[in-house]
Amino acid sequence: MVRQHYQIGIVIRLKDSVPRISSTACDPVESALSLALVWFRQDLRISDNPALLAALEGCDEILPIYIQDSRIGTVGQIGEATQTWLHHSLQSLQATLESLGSRLTVLEGDPLTLLPALAKSLSVDGVFWNRSYDPVTLDRDKEIKTALADFNPQSFLSTLLFEPVKTLKADGTPYRVFTPYWKNLMESLPGDVPLAAPKKLPTPAIEIVEKTLKKPIKIVSIDDLGLLPTLSWARHMMSHWSVGEKAAQAQFKSFLKTAVKHYKNDRDVPSLAGTSRMSPHLHFGEISPRQIVHLVFAKRRNVMSLNVGEETFVKEMVWREFAHNLIYQFPHTVSQPLDQRYEHFPWAKNYASNLKAWQTGNTGVPIVDAGMRELYATGWMHNRVRMVVASFLIKNLLIPWQEGEKWFRHTLVDADVASNAMGWQWAAGSGADAAPFFRIFNPVLQGERFDKEGDYVLRWVPELAEVPRKFIHKPWELPEATRSELNYPAPLVDLKLSRQAALDAFTSIKTVK
Ligand SMILES: Cc1cc2nc3c(=O)[nH]c(=O)nc-3n(C[C@H](O)[C@H](O)[C@H](O)COP(=O)(O)OP(=O)(O)OC[C@H]3O[C@@H](n4cnc5c(N)ncnc54)[C@H](O)[C@@H]3O)c2cc1C
Repeated sequence: MVRQHYQIGIVIRLKDSVPRISSTACDPVESALSLALVWFRQDLRISDNPALLAALEGCDEILPIYIQDSRIGTVGQIGEATQTWLHHSLQSLQATLESLGSRLTVLEGDPLTLLPALAKSLSVDGVFWNRSYDPVTLDRDKEIKTALADFNPQSFLSTLLFEPVKTLKADGTPYRVFTPYWKNLMESLPGDVPLAAPKKLPTPAIEIVEKTLKKPIKIVSIDDLGLLPTLSWARHMMSHWSVGEKAAQAQFKSFLKTAVKHYKNDRDVPSLAGTSRMSPHLHFGEISPRQIVHLVFAKRRNVMSLNVGEETFVKEMVWREFAHNLIYQFPHTVSQPLDQRYEHFPWAKNYASNLKAWQTGNTGVPIVDAGMRELYATGWMHNRVRMVVASFLIKNLLIPWQEGEKWFRHTLVDADVASNAMGWQWAAGSGADAAPFFRIFNPVLQGERFDKEGDYVLRWVPELAEVPRKFIHKPWELPEATRSELNYPAPLVDLKLSRQAALDAFTSIKTVK
């Protein structure tokens, strides 16, 4: 028997069976049916969803809801790429719920007022959700829990493998370096077995719900949320993806069958499909980290019995945990450097046109432009190239990392407050376990090492199709006559000189206390 302890409810389950919950939330009052609200957030799936399963075990009827938060999740505040993904992901969840005889009730507004009003209108016996750990959501959820005190609010661990609050060093302080963090967590892997999906969901009829609701609560449709962008770029981007729980499972199983064994080497080659592309699915909770890790472990008992590809992959999943742990412990690092010396960094002034050239993939540095164009076309960029374009923006153009973070937030389908901030602070040298500032990626050498034949560059920068391969990562070295015929810009900056300028700028903050 496997036991899982949650903060309030206790799920007791037999291996490979539907979990059972003993919860005080939904004891039926006399003969009335008990009703639970299940608030879907970044957990848009029905399998391994502890909040949903706890509600189902404890209550007779479930009302699944989604709230587009007018304070922190409105159109414009989240990026257009994630907005677009969210639209499709909600549609997919709606279809899954309908296949189980249920329905997603969609609302728009401030959950702090909507949830208590809804709970009161419907006289619910419990409100269930899975926790998120970014600072803004954490603060909001604390307030909501207090406001729902009369309605048995219960929240669960599901978006991460481990609670950040429990993942501390022996001396009780937070980890700042990845390797000891990994060593600590690896012993607990793979952890609890994922929960099975429910077979059906008893749900009150929508007409009853609508009739009972008091103003100003108004049920809207997914379309009404206006998540689909008016611009065509984000629509085109979606042709590269299949969204939703089933698609996430299928994509991951295919990665396990074909690519994971070569992951250690192939994960660095941007022209290959060598990585899992799970990041947007994980961001929206279409698949849980626990499901992923358990699929990798399959019949293996511990990390020592994984092959090298599997172990490297699981380590990357733990980098994701590390990122969430960092913003939980150091909430200000979402937008400010962890290393405070960087607040005095002498960034370039008047960088608008260089920033635009970077955003649109017109810097004249092929691997940087390929990455930025891949991002705009697909909503995703290969990790190796993310590091290269970030280093170029920060260290060659001297543009503040927050500008890059903002553009990524707008254009990535996996834009995630924790991983994005950690990635950018890593590249800037200002975060936890970051690359030191003096390690400046040379985009030519990175290209020649990880995109030897230039296949990746040529996929996204077709203007270079006629360039001999030895010049593909440095077309500025072509003879002048050939160069001038190319319909491709000269580099924005000289790589050597701009590198030196960055090192000089760094020297100026080195001794700041
Ligand atoms: C500047 C910069 C910004 C980034 N912004 C984001 C972001 O907004 N959202 C995001 O999910 N990742 C971000 N990353 C991390 C990483 O690039 C992506 O997670 C990865 O490329 C996603 O592709 P994948 O799913 O195929 O990864 P895989 O290689 O298959 O890895 C599996 C999973 O592990 C996690 N993971 C892998 N590498 C990292 C990493 N370095 N940091 C944290 N988690 C990781 C992801 O959840 C990923 O889906 C950023 C990295 C950099 C350098």
